[in-house]
Amino acid sequence: MFERPPPRFSSSVVRVFPGRYKVLWPCNARGWHRRIDRMTLLSEVKKDYGKLKNFVNGEWIDSTSDKVIDIENPSTGEVIGKLPMSTVEETKAAIDAAHEAWWAWRETPPITRGRLFFRLKELMEQNFEDVARIMVQEQGKTIDEARGETRRTIENVEVAAGIPSLMMGYSLEDGGAEGIDEDAIISPLGVFAAICPFNFPAMIPYWFWPYAVASGNTYIVKPSSQVPLTQNYLTKLVEQAGFPPGVLNIVNGSHEVSDTLMEHPKVKGISFVGSSPVAKYIYKKSAENGKRVQAQGGAKNSLVVMPDAVLERTVSNMLASYYGCAGQRCLAGSNLVAIGDIAEPLLKKWVERSKLIKMGYGLDESVNMGPVVSAKAKKKVIEYIDSAETEGAKILLDGRKAKVPGYEKGHFVGPTVIDQVTPDMKVAKEEIFGPVVTYLRMDSMDEAIDFIHSSPFGNAASIYTQSGKWARDFRYKVQCGNIGINVGVVAAMAYFPFAGYKDSFFGDLHGQGQDAIKFFTDRKVVITRWF
Ligand code: NAD
Repeated sequence: MFERPPPRFSSSVVRVFPGRYKVLWPCNARGWHRRIDRMTLLSEVKKDYGKLKNFVNGEWIDSTSDKVIDIENPSTGEVIGKLPMSTVEETKAAIDAAHEAWWAWRETPPITRGRLFFRLKELMEQNFEDVARIMVQEQGKTIDEARGETRRTIENVEVAAGIPSLMMGYSLEDGGAEGIDEDAIISPLGVFAAICPFNFPAMIPYWFWPYAVASGNTYIVKPSSQVPLTQNYLTKLVEQAGFPPGVLNIVNGSHEVSDTLMEHPKVKGISFVGSSPVAKYIYKKSAENGKRVQAQGGAKNSLVVMPDAVLERTVSNMLASYYGCAGQRCLAGSNLVAIGDIAEPLLKKWVERSKLIKMGYGLDESVNMGPVVSAKAKKKVIEYIDSAETEGAKILLDGRKAKVPGYEKGHFVGPTVIDQVTPDMKVAKEEIFGPVVTYLRMDSMDEAIDFIHSSPFGNAASIYTQSGKWARDFRYKVQCGNIGINVGVVAAMAYFPFAGYKDSFFGDLHGQGQDAIKFFTDRKVVITRWF
């Protein structure tokens, strides 16, 4: 089978080991591939990554902080590394390094900057499986979810590599008056930084830094202190790709690091992704300190199923939205709103299919759902389910006592379906961030839209229908940043902007694509006359 030449690389085929290939999602390439067996995967990951270092000015530096926390594998409960809470001084040193590196980097031609991203992309493709496996270990998602995230991470690098076209300005001859030309030049600004959440350890920093750096800025990433390993690994690839020292820096830690980044005069802007209360705080504090800021917050997404929806395919599509990444996605379905008489058949099918979800350690290829990220996160999800019961909802499928044999210390919560939820219940209003479906019944799409609009969040909403009229009305009326028509996870590709409305986003320019380039640059107008 492997005597023939290997398949050409495409977005759906990755090289796993020399001579071994894996198709990531169905493709019609004349692909041939071999499945990676579970034992191979389990033997390939490290058991202990030791104490992580910061990456500053091109060097891996030990933090002097005496505050060190454990990095835990949420599936096994084992400690797999240690993370220092870097100090204010260490953060300032990273800012100085980025500032120092800025001018030479800004003078590096865009095409040369872009070439480094092409090189990085190749390194990411070659190390694709390692990135995915480390992510499974520290975050708990399944290997296929981790592969999907790795692919999305690479796509941002691919888009940023096109920087010469992305940051072109515009000119108008005689734009001022006869013989006076006017040009708008797009220029980088200096040092930018990102403060990142736990649920997408690889991708989220890549919504920002590749665009910032490609357009001639330098950068500091503060990974989530819960999942720093994937960024640590990816940064080794950045180093290998040959980015100059100081262009990308990684500082591990928590609030002290974030606060220093927001307060320091040499930092021009902050990109944040996390919960809404923290997003609001980051937005305010960064703006007070004169910085550009884009702060993405939490979500409470409703998926609305109309009476004419194609039942089987709707259920299949929605399962990934509610249970994918154990419900820990800002784009995850949370409320499931059934309109009219589809409510009973839909619920029956939904519970049947939910029962088939196989939980476990995500490195096992047959697992459909991993744990939530920590004991604290599990407690919070269980408290929400308890509150629904107290408020009179009916728990049709209860994941509170879920156990996975062999992984008793993992933070597993099973698929949970709560019926007879009403719009005033806590579980219908607040972000749960776990594999919990809150089932509501309504009479019309307009009632569902009113309910969606009653939420302080506005990240995503989807409709399932065969009617173009209903779909058009839904996309027209719903005030959310991301709308799905028969699509349950409305994840914009890297060349589209990504953010929500209302409390799901504080700022104006979104992450990814052209919006990101605009956030990281400014327009300089030059008016020229020659005597
Ligand atoms: P979080 O708000 O707890 O933490 C996010 C980051 O902020 C972390 O790096 C953390 O160290 C830092 N931080 C937390 N409190 C801080 C403070 N007081 N001062 C300074 N820094 C602080 O979020 P999380 O639990 O890591 O992530 C889950 C949340 O992220 C969910 O609400 C989810 O909806 C949201 N999220 C949103 C999007 C989006 O695009 N809108 C994407 C992914 C996740």
